[in-house]
Amino acid sequence: MTAARAAALPGSEAPAGDERLGEILRALDEDFLAVLGWDWERRVITWPRQHPVIGLPDCPVPGCPLAITVSTRPMCGGCMERWRGSSLPLEEFLLVPKQTSRGTGQGPCVVAGCGRPRVTVAGRLCLAHHVQHTSAGLRVLSLEEFLAHPGVVGHAEFGPCEVAACYLKAVSGQVPYCEAHLNRLYRARTAPGFDEAHWRRTDKAICTTREVSLRGMPERLVAELLYGLWVRTREGFKSRPECLRPVYDRLRARQVQQLEEVTDPAAHGHGREQVTMIRAGSERCAC
Ligand SMILES: [Zn+2]
Ligand SMILES: [Zn+2]
Ligand SMILES: [Zn+2]
Repeated sequence: MTAARAAALPGSEAPAGDERLGEILRALDEDFLAVLGWDWERRVITWPRQHPVIGLPDCPVPGCPLAITVSTRPMCGGCMERWRGSSLPLEEFLLVPKQTSRGTGQGPCVVAGCGRPRVTVAGRLCLAHHVQHTSAGLRVLSLEEFLAHPGVVGHAEFGPCEVAACYLKAVSGQVPYCEAHLNRLYRARTAPGFDEAHWRRTDKAICTTREVSLRGMPERLVAELLYGLWVRTREGFKSRPECLRPVYDRLRARQVQQLEEVTDPAAHGHGREQVTMIRAGSERCAC
């Protein structure tokens, strides 16, 4: 890390006098961070489409927004399942557009100047504009006609989802959460002794194909995880988002401050392997 970028870290979050953090930050590879689309404000790893070790190509099925995360497969996991349930040869299946997709993440409302997210990734309007478009006077309009109607104006956004791990926008003025976390909240708060403030700090990030959140974690842990991923990649180990995401979510849920604390005997499979590799990487960074 360059001095300039280190200086750009929020001073309030960087532990003063933590020499180890400084060492890890200086050891991070700038080019690799760029490959990950890393931004210290957003704190989300985006798996690249093209990279010799960790590249995830787009699923080739028309209309599918997902990525191929298992390199030996010709399609994303969902399209593989659909193909196995069809009687089509692969070449023909790859030509059939995907009709519906749950999609991933969150897209912006297409009304000019509207800061609110779409109701669904596949839809194109925020909730307020969806309701307006389906109202008595405007429902006969096509989407293009609706967008050009003088009574259709953009709305201000509601602000960010307040789950620490989340990087999406809130979908309501009443509760400060994205749609996914709102649904997770409804389920979580039925548990006895539910603590919403603790839940905000520790709940999982939303699941997308390419993106993995390192938000809601201390600087030291974020730096260790980035360094570990770089070491794994440099050594030619493929890291898939669906393997790392649960590890990162678990570290956040347990409010881990640094990887030295991780001695979880219950970790298993990919999880233990990844944490072991990550920690091994971070321990080598002072050399
Ligand atoms: Zn697909
Ligand atoms: Zn809108
Ligand atoms: Zn959220």
